[in-house]
Amino acid sequence: MWGRVQTKDRLRRIGLQVESNCLMCGLHTETGDHLLIQCTYVKRCSQELNRNLQLLPQFTNLGNMSDWLHKPTAGRFRCQVVQCRYATLLYNIWIQRNTTIWQGSIKHYNSVVMQIKTDVWMRIQGIMPKKVQERDKDWLRQILM
Ligand SMILES: [Zn+2]
Repeated sequence: MWGRVQTKDRLRRIGLQVESNCLMCGLHTETGDHLLIQCTYVKRCSQELNRNLQLLPQFTNLGNMSDWLHKPTAGRFRCQVVQCRYATLLYNIWIQRNTTIWQGSIKHYNSVVMQIKTDVWMRIQGIMPKKVQERDKDWLRQILM
């Protein structure tokens, strides 16, 4: 799936005449790894999301991000929450990138982070198992503040 994102580098490879720079930072060629992992805009979002999580991501591209997300952490519930956060981050970055193309404006990263926290809270609330321990519920509230 990672290699299928229609980033500018892929569009150029199939012959479309598009500018290659990343719309989020304007500094580097837009590849899947850059847009979703390495871009300074994404790094700011990720750092803000991880501030309360006390978690240091150990990946530099989409391939090893998947491996990192599937390593066991402190329990199944917390692992699923972290996976949900990253899936929501990637989705929101892609939406923001496309909004930048079509509307020509980019939201401040704090606004995107707030949207991600809201999305994660709604998803987790909708599927949270009844047997989640109180300390895990407290942890969830803390990381989404
Ligand atoms: Zn960038």
